[in-house]
Amino acid sequence: MRIAFTRNERPGKLPPTKELGWGTVFTDHMFLMDYGDAEGWHGPRIVPFGPIVLSPAASVLHYGAEVFEGLKAYRRADGVVQLFRPMENALRLNLSCERIGLPRLNPEDTVEAIREIVRTDQSWVPSDPGTSLYIRPFVFATDPALALHGIHRATFAIILSPVGSYFPDGLKPVRIMIETEDVRAVRGGTGYTKCGGNYAASNRAGDRAMEKGYAQVLWLDGVERRYVEEVGAMNVMFKIGERVVTPSLADGSILPGITRKSCIEMMRSWGMAVEERKVGVDELTRAAEDGTLEEAWGTGTAAVISPIGELSYGGKSYVVNGTEIGPTSRRLYDELTGLQWGSRPDPFGWTVPIPKS
Ligand SMILES: *Cc1c(COP(=O)(O)O)cnc(C)c1O
Repeated sequence: MRIAFTRNERPGKLPPTKELGWGTVFTDHMFLMDYGDAEGWHGPRIVPFGPIVLSPAASVLHYGAEVFEGLKAYRRADGVVQLFRPMENALRLNLSCERIGLPRLNPEDTVEAIREIVRTDQSWVPSDPGTSLYIRPFVFATDPALALHGIHRATFAIILSPVGSYFPDGLKPVRIMIETEDVRAVRGGTGYTKCGGNYAASNRAGDRAMEKGYAQVLWLDGVERRYVEEVGAMNVMFKIGERVVTPSLADGSILPGITRKSCIEMMRSWGMAVEERKVGVDELTRAAEDGTLEEAWGTGTAAVISPIGELSYGGKSYVVNGTEIGPTSRRLYDELTGLQWGSRPDPFGWTVPIPKS
């Protein structure tokens, strides 16, 4: 792929860490590439970050055809910038495109585009503990017509945002509300894809939980409202006695998280028993009552590990591990972040260093 380059003649500068927040500051450049039925994917280019011009009839604005990815670039102590399993994101982006009817990309091109835009703006990768450069690839339909006749034009874009630590005050377990009304995804739907529409469907329950003082909702399945699926926009894991259990991906309503997959592979490498299966909410409340629910945590790129200190269900509250972080979630956090920021060796071959320009 030959990527054209237009330099930003008015470059900005990485702000101090305390001004970063999450997803509000953007770098000097972005990657763009267009799709048309006749030409296929064409015109890969790195250009100054700025507004994208769209027809008001562009189908993404009306029918929601948009999918995205999320990964990070990390600065190691030796100054080198590295990515974590970017091919996994490229493959998952195609899975999402396929479900929504958006054109798929060559995954090698997707990884190359990520590598090149990060290399271009690598001075924006912060170095304070816990900080990183969040990478947001996304694909959206641009057909300038209101007719529902499939997707014939699209854009692939990548924008970059330096972000502060997700846990500036250390890993603090959060309170979670088990959602019994709204559902996020259904069997046969789009739950396994990273499409914008899934997030739109989640807003109401998230807002209500927030109003009641909870950090996130724990989603149940859309048929019986009985089996646990995800926590907010993270996958979820529980340690019950000696085993770690996590909802299986088999029904297609759960997002196949790369952090989830990495945690499972890592825990198995430690010799821990990990079960991917249906996890009933009644099993959890029983385990909480008889004291065998030792730990609960969410997994995702943004937080890596987000420990859960309390679950609320049917008007009752179930405390997990005295609202303290447990040893398994702690170890997962330490080992995964150690690998991502390069302070620990990478026996799995998950990290991909970026050459300095
Ligand atoms: C992105 C996402 C996750 C986490 O996936 P990672 O690859 O680990 O970042 C989990 N659930 C939902 C709904 C997501 O959108």
